[in-house]
Amino acid sequence: MTNLDKFKNSIAQTSDAPMGLEISHAEGPYLYTTNGKRYVDFISGIAVSSLGHRHPKVIEGIKEQINKHLHVMVYGEFVQKPQLKFAELLTSILPNKLDQVYFVNSGTEANEGALKLAKKHTGRSKLVAFKNSYHGDTHGSLSVTGRDVYRDPYLPLLPDVHFLEFNSFEGLEDVIDDKTAAVILEPIQGEGGIIPSDEKWLKEIRERCNDSGALLIYDEIQSGFGRTGKMFAFEHYGIAPDILCLAKAMSGGMPMGAFVASKEIFEAFMYNPPLNHVTTFGGHPVSCAAALANLNELLSGDYLEKAKLIEKKSKEKLKGKGILEVRGKGAMLGLQLESKELTQKVVKQCFSLGILLGWTLHSETLIRLAPPLIIEEDLLNDVLTVIMMSIEQHS
Ligand code: PMP
Repeated sequence: MTNLDKFKNSIAQTSDAPMGLEISHAEGPYLYTTNGKRYVDFISGIAVSSLGHRHPKVIEGIKEQINKHLHVMVYGEFVQKPQLKFAELLTSILPNKLDQVYFVNSGTEANEGALKLAKKHTGRSKLVAFKNSYHGDTHGSLSVTGRDVYRDPYLPLLPDVHFLEFNSFEGLEDVIDDKTAAVILEPIQGEGGIIPSDEKWLKEIRERCNDSGALLIYDEIQSGFGRTGKMFAFEHYGIAPDILCLAKAMSGGMPMGAFVASKEIFEAFMYNPPLNHVTTFGGHPVSCAAALANLNELLSGDYLEKAKLIEKKSKEKLKGKGILEVRGKGAMLGLQLESKELTQKVVKQCFSLGILLGWTLHSETLIRLAPPLIIEEDLLNDVLTVIMMSIEQHS
């Protein structure tokens, strides 16, 4: 049996066509396979390794921490320096009212926690979400994910969730009301096809939330930590949330998620009863040490500029027959092609030429472009040239 056969045999499969790359190691923008091939990781493990693979500063932070301690106690009982230092640094770069952090282990857990927090803080249960959103695969997050094919097999999900059209004003006035605990949205929809929200629409939602007492939750699990050319996507709009959900690129390739809100909102987790929302591994000291090193590096380098350069070059170069649009911000881009066939051919050919691309969950005609922010300009240009050649050849 080959390792691929063994993989298919012993690891639960999530599709019948896994890529099946057998990874030997990964460094910077590259993945290396056991058969000696090298791939440019142009999707950064789906927006995770924004500083590339094994960034030296992240590795250093991890090594320092593993020499001190691993897990020591469930969340909230002990003072752990890596958590503390990272939370302080993170809140120092966020708006004042986002001044406390709750650490979890993944994106979907961050959203779960945020939804529960909003319900407990407001004493309400109604939730408002948007079509084509993606918030994760646990029951709560799936309940606010706006795509029926993923929801239907698991019904019934949470009751009292109302879906509105993304970027449409219709229903905002009526649906966001004094029974609403929270409105949850991605400032730039990721799996929905890299769709930035409209500024006026976001402002209207913020106002409806203020008027009705509903909390506004931003899911920045994919768009956070520099990917869009700002540290957080909401900075493009200047409209802050009440709860901010983070994960993916936060910890340089280690598993971690977080949701950030004000002390006043977080009080709901302290009382009636105490310990009403806890986690064993959330805020793991090694992940926090990695996240601290990752954020310090992001803040000290020219990574945001690089994200903007990636947007500029991609929008300049990817033009012509077969291409409908390149949309998105910074290094969170979607290349909209005219057909599913063309998309498949281009992804397949680039793969055979050593470039890893991908699509988004809810679209079959969009190629996701999410290179790491450490990518050198020459490599970026080379990859864009290959993608362009492939599109020209197949359209
Ligand atoms: N929210 C968004 C916007 C995401 O892109 C993702 C992952 N693609 C999630 C939530 C879920 O994160 P995780 O896979 O870490 O649970």
